[in-house]
Amino acid sequence: MDTTPSNHSLEDLRDRLSPLEFHVTQESGTEQPFTGETWDNKADGSYVCKVCGVELFSSDTKFESGSGWPSFWQPTSTENISVTIDKSHGMVRTEASCAKCGAHLGHIFPDGPQPTGDRYCMNSASLSFLAQEDS
Ligand code: FE
Repeated sequence: MDTTPSNHSLEDLRDRLSPLEFHVTQESGTEQPFTGETWDNKADGSYVCKVCGVELFSSDTKFESGSGWPSFWQPTSTENISVTIDKSHGMVRTEASCAKCGAHLGHIFPDGPQPTGDRYCMNSASLSFLAQEDS
């Protein structure tokens, strides 16, 4: 699987993304909790990759984790999320990245709600929210 930002040179991304969005998605950074745009968003819609726009999560699977980061118990498609082991910062964590462009999204923890028991702990800076249009 190609996880390099092939269609987006780093220079382009620096222009297009905010410094925080660049740091989180390209340098595996983490935004401060309770500061992102969507940690407390309860509107219906979808969450797509900030860098490449692929759909990652639906508001249907968002839940209040108390962490201050947008949290989901299931991705829209597991094929769109690439999972690796992250041993940085003296911890062993499961890292979630965009399978299409390689953008860092956040981490996955096994303490989420049923039916999956997973907690996809994401950075708001890695996601764009697309509100559901009323029909
Ligand atoms: Fe992406």
